Amino acid sequence: MRALAKVDNIAKHVEIVEVPEPRPKEGEVVIGVLACGLCGTDLTLYQWPEHLAVQMGVRFPIVFGHEFGGHVVELGPGVSGLQVGDLVTVNPHLYCKQCHYCLTDRHEICLNRPIIGYNTAGGFAEYVAVRAENVYKLARTVPPVVAALGEPLALGTHLAERAGVGPESLAVVIGPGPIGLVTTIGCHNAKAKRIIVVGLPQDEERLAMARQWGAETFHASDPALRETVLEATDGLGAETVFEVSGSLPGLRQAFSLCRRDGTVYAVGIPHQEEPVDVAAMVYAEKRLVGSRGYRPKDWAAAAKLIDARAADLLPLVSDVLPLAEFETAFAKSIGRQGVRVVMDPTLSS
Ligand SMILES: [Zn+2]
Ligand SMILES: [Zn+2]
Repeated sequence: MRALAKVDNIAKHVEIVEVPEPRPKEGEVVIGVLACGLCGTDLTLYQWPEHLAVQMGVRFPIVFGHEFGGHVVELGPGVSGLQVGDLVTVNPHLYCKQCHYCLTDRHEICLNRPIIGYNTAGGFAEYVAVRAENVYKLARTVPPVVAALGEPLALGTHLAERAGVGPESLAVVIGPGPIGLVTTIGCHNAKAKRIIVVGLPQDEERLAMARQWGAETFHASDPALRETVLEATDGLGAETVFEVSGSLPGLRQAFSLCRRDGTVYAVGIPHQEEPVDVAAMVYAEKRLVGSRGYRPKDWAAAAKLIDARAADLLPLVSDVLPLAEFETAFAKSIGRQGVRVVMDPTLSS
C-alpha cells in the first residue's frame, strides 16, 4: 500500500513509500483511512527543528499522521463492539493503562505512551492497524473527512474540562488557528458564558469561524479587548486564558489579560525557547499550566460532538488532497492557509 513517510532527520525528507498492508493483531482493528489531518506536530516532523523534533522519539522511516478516521476494514481476534464498515475516529495515544497516571484517570500524561504517527505507523496511509480500545465509532451520517477532527476536538474538550469551563466562565483564547478553534468549540460545548478569541488581522477568516461558535473576537492590538475583559470581570481580568498561538507576544498578552490567581493554559508550543515574565507570574500568584493531551472520556465527548454537529464542523476541513499532493498540503499548512488541511489516501491525483 501507499503511505507518506518521514525517511530521515533531514528537513523536508518526506516520501510516498510502498509498505506492506497491516494485519490486525489480537485486540486490534485495521482502518481504511479516509481522512488524515495535517497538524502542527506533523509540520515539526516535516521541517525537523532539531530541539523539538528529537523529543518525539521517532525511528525512521515512520509513516506519520495522527489525526485520522475511516472505515473499519478488518477485525482482529478478541475485538467486540465494532464491525467492518463502521466509520470511526482514532485516539492516537497508546496510553499504557498501568502507570500511576493511567490508574488515576490522567491518561494524557501517561508515562509510557507511544503515539500512532510518531512511534508507530500512522494515518497518512491507505490502511493502519490500531488498538480497538482507541477507536471511537461515529454515526453513519458523518462526512468521513470530519472523522479526522476527532483528535483536535478531544484536545479542545480536554482543555475546557481541565480549566473547569462552565456556564459561569469567561474564557479567553489567544490564537484562532485550528487548535484555537477547537478550544473555542470545547468552551462552547462546555456552555461557557462568554468566549473571547484573539487573533491578528490576517486571521479574519478563522475569527469568523470562532464567531460561529458563539465567540466574540478581537484583533490583538485592539484596545477594546482589554476593556471588554475588564468590564466583564469587575475589573479583575480573565480567570482562564488559553495561549494557543505559541508566540511570545501571545504569552505576554495572556498574562496581561489574566487576573491575579488566574491561570494561563499554555497550549501553543513556541518554535524557539522564549522567556516568560516570571516576576509578573510570581507577584500575582498566577499559574502557567501546560496542557496538550486527552483522556478516554474526552474522546467519548468528542465523538458525541461530531455526531451532533458534523455539518457545523465540516468547514474546519478547508482542503482535502490526495497523498501525492503532500507538498501542497504542507505548504498550505505552513502558510496558515485555510484551517485543517486533510489528505485522503483513497484519492488518486
Ligand atoms: Zn495533532
Ligand atoms: Zn500510563
